[in-house]
Amino acid sequence: MNELYTKFHQLRSNISDLAYTHAVLNWDMEIYMPKGGSDFRSQQISTLAGLVHDLSTSNEMGDLLAKLAKDDTLNAIERRNVQESVRLYERERKLDNDFVKRLSQAISQSYKAWMQARDKDDFKVFAPQLKEVFELSREKAARFGYQGHPYDALLDEYEPGMKTNTLDTVFSGVKSKLGAFINKIKDQEAPDQAILNADFPIQAQEALCKTIATGLGFDWNRGRLDISEHPFTTSFNPNDVRITTRYKENNLLESVWGVIHEVGHGLYEQGLPDSQYGLPAGEPVSLAIHESQSRLWENNVGKSFNFIDAYWDTFQNSFPEAFANKSSQSFFKAINKIEPNLIRTDSDEVTYHFHILLRYEIEKGLMEGSLDILDLEDIWNSKIKEYLGLDVPSPKLGVLQDIHWSHGSIGYFPTYSLGTFYAAQFYATAAKAIPDLDHQIHHKNFAPLLVWLRENIHRLGHQYDSEELCLKVSGEPLNYNYFDEYIHHKFGQVYKF
Ligand SMILES: [Zn+2]
Repeated sequence: MNELYTKFHQLRSNISDLAYTHAVLNWDMEIYMPKGGSDFRSQQISTLAGLVHDLSTSNEMGDLLAKLAKDDTLNAIERRNVQESVRLYERERKLDNDFVKRLSQAISQSYKAWMQARDKDDFKVFAPQLKEVFELSREKAARFGYQGHPYDALLDEYEPGMKTNTLDTVFSGVKSKLGAFINKIKDQEAPDQAILNADFPIQAQEALCKTIATGLGFDWNRGRLDISEHPFTTSFNPNDVRITTRYKENNLLESVWGVIHEVGHGLYEQGLPDSQYGLPAGEPVSLAIHESQSRLWENNVGKSFNFIDAYWDTFQNSFPEAFANKSSQSFFKAINKIEPNLIRTDSDEVTYHFHILLRYEIEKGLMEGSLDILDLEDIWNSKIKEYLGLDVPSPKLGVLQDIHWSHGSIGYFPTYSLGTFYAAQFYATAAKAIPDLDHQIHHKNFAPLLVWLRENIHRLGHQYDSEELCLKVSGEPLNYNYFDEYIHHKFGQVYKF
């Protein structure tokens, strides 16, 4: 065994111990912590974050990495772990304490301003702080360094290796093909959603969500489902994965498909190799690949007719009053209605991508300086009109709706669409590899799909960046057309074209 490499693995494990302890505190804060605990909890979390940063950027780590980078006795996975750790180390070292402090102050100011702006429904209250956040983001990009577009440097934090060029190509597909697709169904008769307007007792929702999560393969010996204000997934190691949801008596979609979404994230975390704990090969690839797993289960599987039909008995038994004498077909159509919405998070899986396109265009324009913050509200409103045909009545329903920018998360939004497009490409590839995949799903047999995802994606951790992984899995780079084919096929069952 290589002594230096063992030492490196040990140090990385120590860092992960602290980082995952940080994650436990965060999880507890969302689920159990009494309100009074928040001051000391913030202090504890920030102390741990500081320790993680110090260890990650320590001279000891730097020396180990410098030596290991020249070590040609390492095997392929070890080499990749070292390379990726060097990338992370160098990036973290580029942000000195002064900059990190300035950024975190600007973010806490802008978060406050965003809340006030929402209260007053006035974008001007948020604009000066948002300007500051974008200025610091430009400085951050300059510190990280980039070859093409300054936006590349920011993308790298969420989607290592992803380039603005690639995004331009993918989103040109959204602009032309998705626009045409939406136009095609605009004049058609919309599915009747009356079946969704019913009472769904929460106890029955909870039981149903657990049944479905179990059916999909979520391992309860290595995971939990709890209730939180905003659903999320977090993991402390592959053998302890936490997902959350929320229940509302009058809303079945939010809990069931919310749980399926988080189960997708959770299955990915449970499938990471625990032998690589602390190392890149034991971590997820990126936000987009994570999102590809959640959306594949939520949309490609969970909102398919085969899935709905397979579970229709269970749905009817869970909610006899709502669903007696109703057909799986009418429910399938009701949950797959396409209708432009002002709010991104309330959007259907098709028009959603125009929300991401417009945010991407705005972020890119602000980063390169071709757009001005002061014009943002007008730009937003005119793009919503152009892409979705909607009038924005107030900034709260427009430019002020998302928390991301106030948090300094620039370059994050595109990962949602990328995840969806990767999901379509992965699902199409899985369907070629698994005979009768749709038939298996119709028989609630999800194991072949999960095994395929484990084998081709989960067990690899971050041995490859997303585009390398996509090439390896499907034989080609990310291609928007898979999503186009998927929506034509699926919504052809809902609409007529
Ligand atoms: Zn997600």
